[in-house]
Order: sequence, then structure tokens, then C-alpha cells
Amino acid sequence: MVAEYLTTSTEETIELAERFAKTLRLGDNVLLYGDLGAGKTQFAKGVAKGLGIKETIKSPTFAYVNQYSINLRSQISDPKYLYHYDLYRLEASPETSMSSHLMSLGFQETIEDPSAINVVEWADRLDGKPHSYIDVAIEPYKGDKRAIKISYHRDTQLDASLIPDYYAEWQTPLHVRDHCKQVATVAMQIAEAYFKQGVIIDCHLLYTACMLHDMCRVCDFRELDRDRFDESIAKEEWDRWEKLREAYSDQHHADIAFDQLKERGYSDTAEVIRLHKSTTIVKEWDSFDTLEKKIVYYADKRVKHREIVDLKERFRDGQERYGEYDDEKQKRLYEAVEEKTHRLEKELFKDLDIAPEDIV
Ligand code: ADP
Ligand code: MG
Repeated sequence: MVAEYLTTSTEETIELAERFAKTLRLGDNVLLYGDLGAGKTQFAKGVAKGLGIKETIKSPTFAYVNQYSINLRSQISDPKYLYHYDLYRLEASPETSMSSHLMSLGFQETIEDPSAINVVEWADRLDGKPHSYIDVAIEPYKGDKRAIKISYHRDTQLDASLIPDYYAEWQTPLHVRDHCKQVATVAMQIAEAYFKQGVIIDCHLLYTACMLHDMCRVCDFRELDRDRFDESIAKEEWDRWEKLREAYSDQHHADIAFDQLKERGYSDTAEVIRLHKSTTIVKEWDSFDTLEKKIVYYADKRVKHREIVDLKERFRDGQERYGEYDDEKQKRLYEAVEEKTHRLEKELFKDLDIAPEDIV
């Protein structure tokens, strides 16, 4: 679940960091890892550039921290700051502990400041991680080549380690978990093709959203049919499902998952999952404002049960399972969904070096 990018020159690293900066929000903490000369300061330069900072970024090695005003046009009101830390020389000494040293720099305050962005070189010097952070690890390759790994861990996204807990809580059936896993496989292949183009995608968000998109699926199965389950189901489990279905009757499983995750603060994951409901692509196309949202929606429409299929087959199967439309209006809606999903497919693959049929 780590996005890996290859750059072959300083300029390419700066450009990558500029694109990365466009995904940043106030309150983000970027933790930079890598040996001396890996390119952390170059990356920080690109971040500053992407945030509209005109000043030249210099390594703050001897100052520990430099402060810059962020000049995003949309944020002209109060000043917002980028704090660029370099903790290379930070060490515990007999007189001062690491944490008191950091404290004297005002580190904790700016790390928790919701209107600041922090970029921290030598983040491995820290005792722990902030609540919300993005890891960027730079490894020298050969010569000027660098491998740059980016992984998002914002507090607004659910951590992948919690996936089993949610399956347990919602008693997600095995075949539904398999479906989710297959959707994640499709999504990751598409993401991988985008990484090759240097496009920034939060693949941790992408993966967890795929894995949990149908976690509440039992709630709106047309009917509970024992034949559809691989596992033998104990009476208590069955009763639990019946209860969930009663409690959430008339609600779409995407909306149930959305409410659940949102309530726990995982608003990013919640929104990506909410949008996988098939009609959203027609009813609120404007909400699909990130690649992660588009890819999860699309990947789900490429998986029939556990099987990767093309869009045509998936829509044919859907129609077969849900039978006749209620009325002419509904029929037109679903035709529009199919048409729009084909357009989404074209858009997603337009600049990629893989085609929809290469997804396996
Ligand atoms: P750090 O802050 O990690 O110690 P710097 O960013 O100060 O490293 O320095 C990286 C050095 O490597 C610079 O001299 C830079 O020009 C050079 N360099 C060569 N290729 C790359 C690359 N692909 N990405 C980043 N820096 C590169
Ligand atoms: Mg440096």
C-alpha cells in the first residue's frame, strides 16, 4: 500500500514534490526519511514551490526550523505557514532530553496547528509519529536515480490494520470479503499504472476503501439466502444479520458504511466508500473530484462476485440479478449509469500504458 515513484534527476524530484504539494491540506505533517544527500531538502523545495512559496528554501540544518508564509490564492485571509524542520543534529545530550529540545523549538505546537503544514527532515529522530502524517521515504538508487515512497496516514482515514475489526463488527460474509479483495486488486493495478506516470495517489486510502466498501452489504441483500454463503452460519450469526437488516432497513449499504466511518472521524474513507453506490455517478458526478474516488467506483464495477469481468458483463449481470426496472424513469437512470461508467473508464485509461482488458 505504498506508492513508489522513480525520479531520475533533481528536477524530477522537485516536480514530483510540487504535484504532491497540491494534495496537501492545512494541518498536514510530511515526514521525510532518507540518508544524507538522499534528496529530502530537494523534495521540501518542491513542496514549498507547490504551495506557492516564492522564497528559496534553504536547509535549516543549523536553525532546526524555518518558517515560510503559504501564498495560496484561496487563503488570502489569515497567514498560514509552512514549517520546514531538519532534525539531523537533534540528539539527546546530558543536559537536555530529545523531547525538551523539540519542545524548545515549538515543534509540538506547529505539528498540532490545524492551519500549518509541517515538513520534517530526519523524521526518524522523532520518538513517535504525530496523529496525522504522510511518510515520504527517499532511497538513492543508482547515480541520480531515486525511489520515493509516499504513504498517507491522515487521521481522517481509517488505517488498514483495522479492516479485520470492521469485518468482525459487521460480520461481513466471506464471499463479500473476497469481492472486496478483488476490487482492491483491480484498483491497485490501475494505481500502479498511474504511479509510473508520476501521478500522486493515496493508495492507503484507495486500498482501505476497496476493502471496506461492502462491509455493511448484509444490510441490504435482497434476501438472506443460506445458499449464497460459503461458511456455515451459526444461529447467533444469522440472528445478528437479521437484526442489522431490521435496524438499517431501507438504507443503502454504502450510506450505512459512510455514517459509521464518518462518525468515527474517518471522513476521507467514508466519502470514497459512499460514492461507490452505482447511481452517484449520474446524480452527483461533481463529487468525484479525486482519482481515488473514481478508481474505487470503477474497480467495483469490474468485479462480479469474485471474478474480474468487463463493464458490459458486470452491468448485464446486475440487470439480471435485479430483474425488471420499476418504471421507465429507473430504466433510464441505469442506462445513464452504464453509459457514464464507460465514459469514466475511457477517462481513467486515457493516458495509461495499460488498457481495461489488461486488468487481471
Ligand atoms: P538531504 O536533504 O536528503 O540530505 P539534499 O536534498 O540536500 O539531501 O541533496 C540531494 C543531492 O542529491 C542534491 O545535490 C541533489 O542535486 C542530488 N540529486 C541527484 N539526483 C537527485 C534526485 N533524483 N532527486 C533528488 N536529489 C538528487
Ligand atoms: Mg537536508
